[in-house]
Amino acid sequence: MRFLLAFLLLLSGWAGAAQASDSGARPLRVFVSVLPQKTFVERLGGERVQVEVMVRPGDSPHTYEPTPRQVAALADADLYVAVGGTFEDAWMGRIRSANPHMAIVNTGEGLDLRAMQAHDHDRDEEVAPEGGRHQSKDPHLWTSPPLVGQMAARIRDALIALDPAQGLFYAANYASFTSELEDLDRDIRAQLAGLSDRRFMVFHPSWGYFADTYGLIQVPIEHEGKEPGPKALVALIEQARREQVKVIFVQPQFSRKAAAQVAAAIDGRVEVMDPLAPDYSANLRRVAAVLAGAGSR
Ligand code: ZN
Repeated sequence: MRFLLAFLLLLSGWAGAAQASDSGARPLRVFVSVLPQKTFVERLGGERVQVEVMVRPGDSPHTYEPTPRQVAALADADLYVAVGGTFEDAWMGRIRSANPHMAIVNTGEGLDLRAMQAHDHDRDEEVAPEGGRHQSKDPHLWTSPPLVGQMAARIRDALIALDPAQGLFYAANYASFTSELEDLDRDIRAQLAGLSDRRFMVFHPSWGYFADTYGLIQVPIEHEGKEPGPKALVALIEQARREQVKVIFVQPQFSRKAAAQVAAAIDGRVEVMDPLAPDYSANLRRVAAVLAGAGSR
């Protein structure tokens, strides 16, 4: 494996040299849905890609509506990298018709998707929603580094299909990115290994794949995308007391009102964990450190 990596890096040097002599070619124009995908596409495509993000900083990917300017800009795009889910469910038809020649890759396709988690306040436990109505799939795949490795392979293949002359360059970047992801995965496992309390309470359930990968349990506050009602809030506060929760996690794109109410009632605190941060690896290391600090007592 190490030998293969060295070989690919060597090839990447050649590809880089080839690229320098070919500087007249315009970069591939790539659209992605959420910010972490921009990081992934840039790690794989380097200077060969120019990446635009649909969901603006601070906006929720679930309710986002692309601006007319963004839809118009799709006319020049070579590739759309979809996460599968979120606002894409309502918009993919319009995205497709804005540019019928654009390649579209859904990086979540064929992966083992979990159901979007909801809090069942009657049974007072978190459950996967059942029945057709709420059977939506959880789109937050990128919170799990091993899944990002699988998503990256699809992005790599899409870039090579559009720009086969630079195939070795994309393959070498993929090799170095997956090696970074393996380091990240190992570090997070080490950080969370000794954690005594493996539950964490979070407003919006973005961290299900992260939790699955690292043996944690995510307890969501949000109910079907909305703030919990007064009765649900009381149930959550009781649960937080019973489970001795001290930290409630929020992300910047969602209200922190309910989280702050629960935190005040249990004399705990609110911390930010942002699943949409652009500095992917550093951000997940931060998240693991915060969870490790919150869960040890
Ligand atoms: Zn979300």
